[in-house]
Amino acid sequence: MPSFDFDFQGLFERVSSFLQVAALALGALFAAFWVAMIVWAYRDIRARSRDIFAQILAVLLVALIPVIGLLLYLLMRPKDTLAEAYDRALEEEALLQSLEDRANCPKCHTRVEKDFILCPVCYTGLKKPCVECGRLLALEWDVCPYCGHASQPAPAQPTQPVAAPAPVPVTVGVTPSPPPTA
Ligand SMILES: [Zn+2]
Ligand SMILES: [Zn+2]
Repeated sequence: MPSFDFDFQGLFERVSSFLQVAALALGALFAAFWVAMIVWAYRDIRARSRDIFAQILAVLLVALIPVIGLLLYLLMRPKDTLAEAYDRALEEEALLQSLEDRANCPKCHTRVEKDFILCPVCYTGLKKPCVECGRLLALEWDVCPYCGHASQPAPAQPTQPVAAPAPVPVTVGVTPSPPPTA
């Protein structure tokens, strides 16, 4: 059958060379994809962990098991990037700070700021300003801890001024002799 025979060989060669080219192109494409996966995994793990062992492990996983390794890495990688973890730590700190700055009125439990001197709802006194330096003191404090001014002289304690301690003479290189014991 010469009519079927004349281009069968040529067709086969053309198909086989096309398959070779296609296989080469697919191989090159896959190689590029493989390299891109490794580079992506390397950059991703670097953004998520400073642990050099985790970085090597992630790159090896993706490099040695091309597609499955990437899926495994996506399942196991740290949830937050380092930048996200840092941002969240800052947010939590700011939240804690704002909670610390607030308090409640002891009588009506209205939320009051730390520098309120009375509750705006029930007028309960919360703080008193120091008459000397003006900083806010707790109501039960008799002495300003900032400037030392006594707001109310306490009757139980003598108000005599505290004498400054006598300066101790320091002699360099000579140990002072102990006081004589009678
Ligand atoms: Zn109140
Ligand atoms: Zn004061």
